[in-house]
Amino acid sequence: MTERYEGIKASGGLAIGNLYLFSREEVVVDDRKIREEEADDEFNKVKDSINAYIDQLSNNEGASEAQKNIAAAHTELLSDPYFTDTIESKIKNELKNSELALDETIKEMVEIMSQIDDDYLRERASDYKDIGLQVMYKLKKITPKDLAHLDKNSIVISKELTPSDTSNMDKEAVVGFATDLGGKTSHTSIIAQTLDMPALVGMGDISTKIKGGEKAILDGNEGLLIVNPSQEEIDNYTALIKEQKEKKERLKLIKDKEAVTKDGKKIEVSANIGNLEDLKIAIENGCDGVGLFRTEFLYMQSSEFPSEEKQFEVYKEATQMLGDKPLIIRTLDIGGDKGLDYFEFPKEENPFLGYRAIRLCLDKKEMFKDQLRALVRASAFGNLKIMIPFVVNINELKEARNMIEEIKKELDQEGIAYNKDLDVGIMVETSASIIMADKFIKYADFFSIGTNDLTQYTLAVDRGNENIADLYSNYNPAVLRAIKHVIDISHEAGKWTGMCGAFASDTEATKLLLGLGLDEFSGSSAKIAEIKDTIINSDQNKESEFAAKAIDCESTEEVESLVKEHK
Ligand code: PEP
Ligand code: MG
Repeated sequence: MTERYEGIKASGGLAIGNLYLFSREEVVVDDRKIREEEADDEFNKVKDSINAYIDQLSNNEGASEAQKNIAAAHTELLSDPYFTDTIESKIKNELKNSELALDETIKEMVEIMSQIDDDYLRERASDYKDIGLQVMYKLKKITPKDLAHLDKNSIVISKELTPSDTSNMDKEAVVGFATDLGGKTSHTSIIAQTLDMPALVGMGDISTKIKGGEKAILDGNEGLLIVNPSQEEIDNYTALIKEQKEKKERLKLIKDKEAVTKDGKKIEVSANIGNLEDLKIAIENGCDGVGLFRTEFLYMQSSEFPSEEKQFEVYKEATQMLGDKPLIIRTLDIGGDKGLDYFEFPKEENPFLGYRAIRLCLDKKEMFKDQLRALVRASAFGNLKIMIPFVVNINELKEARNMIEEIKKELDQEGIAYNKDLDVGIMVETSASIIMADKFIKYADFFSIGTNDLTQYTLAVDRGNENIADLYSNYNPAVLRAIKHVIDISHEAGKWTGMCGAFASDTEATKLLLGLGLDEFSGSSAKIAEIKDTIINSDQNKESEFAAKAIDCESTEEVESLVKEHK
């Protein structure tokens, strides 16, 4: 009988195959107390096991970039003196044996990481679990089961998949995976995305519901696992997979092309990034530049405000990686839903409307200056532009610009190079910046529309509130009119407008946004080729007629059906 299970979409795509149930060896921790004279030997056993695992991690021939990064991150965790000191103290002071000391230390680390109020860092708890398990295997001299030899077209089902499980997975044989645990930012998701393999996570107890060997369809686009599908479903999905494969092949040839419309308008198709690893992927995917570098991750993954020097190195490297392609770096947008471990934000009723982004930066000028100096210095190495988020008053932009001018004077005195024509633009994401766009454009070299926030503020709909999720739509005509207004104002002033909110990656909306006059689309790297393909096959003039009809609609639903009909 056909059974359907839903999960969190970790990586898109479709697969048909047979389920393979993967379970890891259960380890029973020996919780013996030891005698004092045994302590040195016990600690040496853990050290040897850690080193053996580090050796194994360094031997990563043929691994993907993402897997190498995970191996490097694990090596760093294993080399952390706090980690080994804690184990040593448990053995030598508390007289716990090696296994117990390792187990307790890992549990404590996992507990600490799990409490961090940040999805990305919280997921790193699974790194600790993984290294703990691998070191435990070494201690116990267990050779763990692996995914290296599987039958063709296997869909792996497991409680969870750790980076070590996926590192030696037979990539020719596995066509997808689904796990009980994990979230969107878990390693399972990240690896599935880099392997370009459909995957679902957070499926509850799927690993206890299947036996293994069943025929199944994994639909990563819809978040669905269909076990024992009907012949009709298999036929439908087989046809869909063929279609998607052909499309993928066609898009591969397009990714490095220029996105020029049939009537000759050149559009930039860029990527949003949070770090240099994202940038590598963006470049591989044919980006024309970066439309948004979210610098808050640099701050969130640090244990203190990152220094000017540390930031300079990152911005410089990113600039150089892109050559003369534009790199738009957004100044710190912290607060709202993003906190820092080392900085206490005031308790607020409405953090999204509170002490955040440029407001905080202008209040903490010393800290802000470190970032601005790093940015201005890095501008000497390529086509870097600075973008100020969340502005509502012209004065905020003027103040930031004044700081940049002061920095340029300082750098002149210090004999340090920078780009004298460095562009400074704003993210248009608040109602005030839309309404006052004609004034802002006098002081901004460009606009980039942040639809994630623009839609939230224009419609007064919290972007993260599930209860009102159906009211949050980029297709609301009010949002479209705001976008059109902002683009028109920038064009009248001879300047340009890009979009770095998620709407830019919505491939259903590409023609509409092209018709509204957008100059740059910046979003998910995975969508670059598809957006370029649509642009190359569109006529800007024709699409602007279509966009005029869309902004004349009375409701979101009306716009949506118009867009659906317009292929
Ligand atoms: C936006 O608001 O559209 C945006 C791109 O920024 P963030 O999602 O980081 O708020
Ligand atoms: Mg925003």
